[in-house]
Amino acid sequence: MARYTDPVCRLCRREGVKLYLKGERCYSPKCAIEKRNVPPGMHGAKRARRKPSDFQRQLREKQKVRRIYGVFERQFRRYFRQALKTKGLTGTTLLVLLERRLDNVIYRLGFASSRAQARQLVTHGHFTVNGKKVDIASYQVEPGDVIQVAENSRQLTYFKDLVEQGRRYAMPPKWLAVDMAALSGRVLAMPTREDIDPSINEQLIVEYYSR
Ligand code: SF4
Repeated sequence: MARYTDPVCRLCRREGVKLYLKGERCYSPKCAIEKRNVPPGMHGAKRARRKPSDFQRQLREKQKVRRIYGVFERQFRRYFRQALKTKGLTGTTLLVLLERRLDNVIYRLGFASSRAQARQLVTHGHFTVNGKKVDIASYQVEPGDVIQVAENSRQLTYFKDLVEQGRRYAMPPKWLAVDMAALSGRVLAMPTREDIDPSINEQLIVEYYSR
């Protein structure tokens, strides 16, 4: 599976906002956005002063969301096409499809400090959905699904620490429930727009793909 391997803080600086791609570091003063919030590159600061065109705003919003969820362009377009075919608001449907990815759910449940780490844990086969091992990060969860740490993985120091230290990386949103002591989570309902980052302007993404 292809993945982004360049410095990720650069992506936040490019978008000018925290995308929370690095786990605990994102909440510390070491965060690159806290230290120096200018776009990367030699002329980054100069470019940032220019008023963006409509196209640039649409492009940046699309890139921001793609980067938050760690999805490549081809897959992101597939989600958009799927959203177009689905009844309802295309932008909201797109965000809901992204939110229902298994790697995102693992992150939201607090089993991982970032979506990238969640993706790695999933692809290494550390989770089951309804008792069956699932190692596909893009797997779409459904209401009623039970997500658990696989039996063989429960002895790993990483998961033992989560239980013993009562640690949890995130507070789950209301459509998810977690029982950290049992290393288990449940999907209570479909996510709604209110459960997703309010700073995202999905209409700009729809406009981008409708040009
Ligand atoms: Fe973004 Fe996190 Fe890096 Fe800060 S530390 S710039 S939020 S990835």
